[in-house]
Amino acid sequence: MRIWIENIQKGLADTPLCPLCQRGGSLEHILSSCPKALGDGRYRWRHDQVLRVIAEVISTGITCSKHQQPARQNIVFVKAGEKPNQRLKESGGLFATAKDWQLEVDLGRQLKFPGNIAATTLRPDIVLVSEKTRQVVLLELTVPWEDRMEEAFERKRAKYEELAGECRSRGWRTRCNPIEVGCRGFVGQSLIRALKMLGVKGLHIRKATKNITDAAEKASRWLWIKRGDPWIGQATQTQARV
Ligand SMILES: [Zn+2]
Repeated sequence: MRIWIENIQKGLADTPLCPLCQRGGSLEHILSSCPKALGDGRYRWRHDQVLRVIAEVISTGITCSKHQQPARQNIVFVKAGEKPNQRLKESGGLFATAKDWQLEVDLGRQLKFPGNIAATTLRPDIVLVSEKTRQVVLLELTVPWEDRMEEAFERKRAKYEELAGECRSRGWRTRCNPIEVGCRGFVGQSLIRALKMLGVKGLHIRKATKNITDAAEKASRWLWIKRGDPWIGQATQTQARV
């Protein structure tokens, strides 16, 4: 764990009241439970910092797979009774199963879920579509306090269950993966599973998870340092960069 987090948790840093809402200013409160910070968009800002890195990893993965020679063994045909995941593992992930993956990310301009797949007002953080092979992947990111990772996973899965069902009923092979990156920089197993499923492998996975968890930890550190400062500046800065 990072030194600054350790020090705060050991009580070495001064943690009196939360300057925003005057409740107990513990690390857990400042980083994930302050209603005022939530309302300010501070947690949203951190979420988007992490989402941007995940989107870069996925975008690179798609580009790499497009430049690979088409290999017959990479085409996945799943027959009745077969386990698709096993075949995916052998092949090189979802990226290798189509050459027309399109990536949409809910950053900057609002993501609109593709109307030809299903009608919904829900906006998953990332939508990956292959029209040719009729596959769709929904990824939904949460950057929770580590103790609440499982809870976040279940909540997000429930939120998108109906939409995923509708996509399937319209003939789309659909995967819905909630992913969690702990706000103190711990990686959730759900993130590793999702990256592997997509086809990010080996050293790339290690590098990707490091970049992603670093983004979460850095943003949390910023939230801690700026806990008493007005937030409007950061919000504007983020929007300007998008
Ligand atoms: Zn507070």
